[in-house]
Amino acid sequence: MKDLIKLNNVSKFYYNKGVIASGFSKLNVSFNIGEFVAITGESGSGKSTLLNVISGLDTYEEGEMYINGEETSHYTDIDFENYRRKYVSNIFQTFNLVNSYTVYQNVELVLLINGYDKKEIRDKVLNLIDIVGLTKWKNSKVSKLSGGQKQRVAIARALAKETPIIIADEPTGNLDSKAAKDIIKLLSEIAKDKLVIVVTHNYDQVEEYVTRKIKMHDGKIIEDKKVKEYKREEYISTSDFSSMTLSNRIRIGVRNTFNVIPKCLLILFIFAFISMSLLSEYSSMKEDEYLTSQNGTNYYFNDVSIERIVIKKKDKSSFSENDYNKIAALSNVETIVKNDLFLDTDINFTTDNGMFWMPAHIKNIKDFKGEINAGRISNNDNEIIIEGNENDYYLGYGLDEILDKDFLMEDFNTGNIDREHKYKLVGVSYNKALGYSNYTIYLNENLIEKLSSSMNQKYSNFKVYFEGKYRSQDYYNSLVVPSKSVPKGSAYISSDLSGECENFNCSGHNIKVFVENMYFNEMLDLTVSEVYNKNNFEALTGVKDYEGNNGRIYVNEEEYNNIFDKDPYQSSVYVKNVDKIENTVKELNSMGIDTLMIKDTLIKDNISAFLRILRTVVTVISVVVLFFISYFVIKIILKSRNVYFATLRMLGANKNTAKELLIIELLNAASISYLIVLIAIYLASQGIINVSSMNTMVMYLELKDYIVLYALLLLISYLISLRFAKKLFKNSAITTIHEEV
Ligand code: ADP
Ligand code: MG
Repeated sequence: MKDLIKLNNVSKFYYNKGVIASGFSKLNVSFNIGEFVAITGESGSGKSTLLNVISGLDTYEEGEMYINGEETSHYTDIDFENYRRKYVSNIFQTFNLVNSYTVYQNVELVLLINGYDKKEIRDKVLNLIDIVGLTKWKNSKVSKLSGGQKQRVAIARALAKETPIIIADEPTGNLDSKAAKDIIKLLSEIAKDKLVIVVTHNYDQVEEYVTRKIKMHDGKIIEDKKVKEYKREEYISTSDFSSMTLSNRIRIGVRNTFNVIPKCLLILFIFAFISMSLLSEYSSMKEDEYLTSQNGTNYYFNDVSIERIVIKKKDKSSFSENDYNKIAALSNVETIVKNDLFLDTDINFTTDNGMFWMPAHIKNIKDFKGEINAGRISNNDNEIIIEGNENDYYLGYGLDEILDKDFLMEDFNTGNIDREHKYKLVGVSYNKALGYSNYTIYLNENLIEKLSSSMNQKYSNFKVYFEGKYRSQDYYNSLVVPSKSVPKGSAYISSDLSGECENFNCSGHNIKVFVENMYFNEMLDLTVSEVYNKNNFEALTGVKDYEGNNGRIYVNEEEYNNIFDKDPYQSSVYVKNVDKIENTVKELNSMGIDTLMIKDTLIKDNISAFLRILRTVVTVISVVVLFFISYFVIKIILKSRNVYFATLRMLGANKNTAKELLIIELLNAASISYLIVLIAIYLASQGIINVSSMNTMVMYLELKDYIVLYALLLLISYLISLRFAKKLFKNSAITTIHEEV
């Protein structure tokens, strides 16, 4: 008849730093179902070593071990793993329970690991807890139980697996005598249809229950005595197992994430730190890239935003409202500046007292995208806001000198300061992209409309045909100016021109005013109705300064303005996403529009290209460094979990299962941390929290970046799990437990 376990001259040696120690040598012994065996002997006599070899937790060097008649010298690690799962449950002096789990969860764990379904095991687990008398404590954390109670949990767990062999190494070693007696009694009851082997120092305690006594000394069996008859069972029912189901892996992985609160918080903190570092590193890289892209030079355009495209119609006609609507409907178009000439023209502003003088770009307040850092947004035609670098004197220290002060604006046509209109500076916005003394002033839309038309005038060439001669204006001085005082169809000229006319009388003579610019030619056919001189100048024109204006030809204001009241011929489009600008250009071209991308007109220096490469290298290095820092910190945190994973292995989890549980745990923690960081960034975007690096993230990161960085975080946590799992399995489960406990 086959024995359940049979050892034939089996020896076990330990090799430790070149020294060979004997665990036990040349043992001949066999065990069978129905036996309740006590093994005694002094410390170091080889009892634990024998149990570990029988349990398949440790290997042997010499002799043969038979399991149910099968020789095991050819067994691989996996064969032993399967043997353990089918045949053996262990109970330890140190319990080896998961302290952070409840009683229920500890018993349930072994069943989940061995592939049972969560639902089908509930009754079974509750029944086992009842058998060991812990129903009242089923939802208590194991760490709160007494030693005796812990060992009962361990017994319930050993029973749950339904293996034919239960091996208990000094199960009563840490218990008082009353608890010890109860545990032995419980084991003896189990032993009826199993093989139970117990190691004990105190044989008296077990004598009344055991069927056999084995005494060891110095690695040998010196006594093997039958104490009591037992009923030897022929039929061996082994534990039925499969792999842990995916849903249970996820369930346990998630449970482990939150299980130990300090560990959970620490890991969440580490991942939040990694996420924040990655996001801020990446966003500041993008910011740098953006700023350098803005720093190119160009001699024709003042506004060199890379989002800008200058557009004209191919047929040279002006843009209609309909054209603008079609352009605005393109998905990547952010804004259209209809008359874009003033984008590239600086207009001088000055304070009333002339202390502060600045040339500024002009933009429509509707297109203001920044935030107001001092003062407020403008509300009406007479209010303006200014945007510039915060390190600029006036926008920083000198803020009081400009905020809430009245400003005057230069008149395009005359180049004089227009003292009739005042604009109050009500708000300041900081923009790092703007250099020192480089200001943008935002004006109300009505004002922009007015400027647009005078802008056309500024870029037009005036010529006058009078008495057979053409006269043109020099660059700085307007030749033709509008006046309310002049009637339609008339012109007022200076008496300086009288010499051209017969009898010095020019009154009633014809004068033609030609206006030309890039887009159109117009002509006013007028009659000279008044000739002004020093004495009547103010009375005729309403203008005081005769010396400064003498020689100009005054025409009716409405007629004059009509010339320039045209739809724009050239506009600019700003795109939302520069990466897709080429697409937008194609769409515009197919609408019959000629385009010029400002980004193509910029001249870049080599230094910024070099800095970009350097920056990329620095970013890659810091990701790698982050990986190692987080790996080592998480390794230290996870080290406390060596026992947990060794316990899992003893309960039947294979390498893969343990590795996956770890992966799920870390991926879960990484995701939660990332979510927390995203919430923080969302709050920053809503202005609820204000951290400058987060504001940079809000400004420069897009959905795609968040997804890529999330993937990177998952990859990092996956690699950490793999490395850690590999370390975990370098040692056998039993060695790990011995080292840690
Ligand atoms: P017991 O359980 O009876 O106290 P053990 O089986 O633990 O004894 O130990 C038997 C012998 O094997 C002892 O001499 C011990 O020093 C040695 N031994 C046990 N485990 C190891 C090990 N991991 N490395 C080296 N020697 C060991
Ligand atoms: Mg021992």
